[in-house]
Amino acid sequence: MAEKIKALSKKQIETLRQKLLSEKESLVFNDGSGPTLDLSLANGGDDVEQSISDYNNSHQLRFRNREVFYAKKIDRALKKFEVNEYGLCSECGCWIKFERLLARPTAEMCILCKEESERDESSCFIGRQSKSLGRVVDLTGMLA
Ligand SMILES: [Zn+2]
Repeated sequence: MAEKIKALSKKQIETLRQKLLSEKESLVFNDGSGPTLDLSLANGGDDVEQSISDYNNSHQLRFRNREVFYAKKIDRALKKFEVNEYGLCSECGCWIKFERLLARPTAEMCILCKEESERDESSCFIGRQSKSLGRVVDLTGMLA
C-alpha cells in the first residue's frame, strides 16, 4: 500500500531552506567562539589548567569534526535548492515527506529507502566485521 507523497509547496521549501540556513549560522558561530576560550586557558595555566585545556581541545575538536561534517551536509542540501532537487529522494527520486524534512532537513533519502539501506548495513555487518579483523580465513578453516 504505497502512500502517494505530494510535492513540496514553495512555502514548505522556503521553510526548510530557512531552517538549514539558520542551522548553518549557528554552526559557524560555535566554530568562532571556541579558540578564544582555549587560548586564555593555555596562556595563563599551570599543569592542571593545561590538562583541562588539552581535554577541552580534544573534546572540542571532536565536537567540531562533527560540526564540519554536519555543515557539509547542510551545504549539500542547500545546493539542491539551486537545481530544484531538494526534497527528492536520492535513491528512488520520489518526494521525501515534509514532516521528515522538518525533523531532519539534511535527509537525502525517503523513509522507505533509508530503512532499506539500514537493513542492508546490518545484514552485512558480520561479514564486514570479520573482514576488518582479518579473520575471514580463520573462520572458514574452523567451520570446515
Ligand atoms: Zn526513496
